[in-house]
Formats: sequence, C-alpha cells, structure tokens
Amino acid sequence: MEPRLHIIQADITTLEVDAIVNAGNSTLMGGGGVDGAIHRKAGPQLLEACRPLNGCRTGEAKITSGFNLPADFVIHTVGPVWYGSERNERELLASCYRKSLELAVENNLRTVAFPSISTGAFGFPFHEASTIAINTVLEELSQHPQLEQVTLVAFGEGDYNQLKKIFKKVTSTNS
Ligand code: ADP
Repeated sequence: MEPRLHIIQADITTLEVDAIVNAGNSTLMGGGGVDGAIHRKAGPQLLEACRPLNGCRTGEAKITSGFNLPADFVIHTVGPVWYGSERNERELLASCYRKSLELAVENNLRTVAFPSISTGAFGFPFHEASTIAINTVLEELSQHPQLEQVTLVAFGEGDYNQLKKIFKKVTSTNS
C-alpha cells in the first residue's frame, strides 16, 4: 500500500492542499462540472489568470494561483474526450496525471488533489479512468519522494465506493 495516495469523497473546492487539479477544456476559459465549481469558488481573478495562458492541449497542464480557494494553486489540465479508445485516450489521460504532478514538483508543491478527470462530460468510462489514475499516480509517487500526499477525489458516494474497490484491486495486483 502506498500511504501517500489517498482516496476521499469531497467537493474538491473545499480542500486545503497546495494544489487542486482542474479538469478543464482546451480554452481554459471555464466550463461546467468541476471546472465551473472551481472558477465559482476561486472568483473572477482565476479567469483573468487563465486568459494569458492561451489554452492548454489535451494531456498537458498549466498552473495558476488558487485565489479565493483554500488551495494555494490550481493546476489546469485537459482530459481527453472519450471516443471509444481509438484516439489515444488512455495515454492522454495518464499524461494529465503525470504532467500535473510534474508541474507540482517543479513548483515545490507537496500536496495535490485530483478530480476524476474526463469521467463527467467527457465520457471516459469510470472504471478504466480510475485504474489509469491510480497507476499513474503510484508511478509518479515512486519517482518523486518530495510529493507528500496525492488525493483522488470522488464527488459522489457511488464513485467513491467504486474508486476504493478499484484501488484495492490495483494495489493487490501490483504487489
Ligand atoms: P470532464 O469534462 O473532464 O469529464 P467534469 O467536470 O464533467 O469533467 O467531470 C469530471 C469529474 O468531476 C466527474 O467525476 C464529476 O463527478 C466530478 N466533479 C464535479 N464537480 C466536482 C467537485 N466540485 N469536486 C470534485 N469532483 C467534482
């Protein structure tokens, strides 16, 4: 078991961590779902900070301050839209987790929380997305001892229960 990987059920906008990750779209100019919730709580300065970033490619990540959020920073990443696995969606999703954590390390951040990227409006199947999330975070934790805690945040109770089960399965297969 990796004690630095946590799974919780929460509204990610309430978390006091160094950075929360936003599952945005390629414009980085706000949207629905977790993106909308983060922008509402952070306040209009977040949008102003995103404007000069000129968007973000799928699988990449960019960082801003967290403004009115309890988190100090927001790492903006863009998950792949699920088209049925033909468009490199798995690798792109893994890249979101990897690049977000690499950006956290570059900025000396130690605690990072992720929503379940791409599993809302972008339609990535939850089970598969969660397996990719867990495996990628575990890989990054093993490479970056300076990361103290990475949290995977499930929004609903159903997602939380599924995520815990997947975590147990993945970690028992890996060990
Ligand atoms: P995407 O477009 O990447 O699919 P969504 O925001 O539609 O992004 O959904 C991604 C995930 O974020 C979904 O699992 C959704 O339940 C979850 N989510 C939505 N709001 C919040 C929130 N406030 N905190 C944590 N997770 C959230």
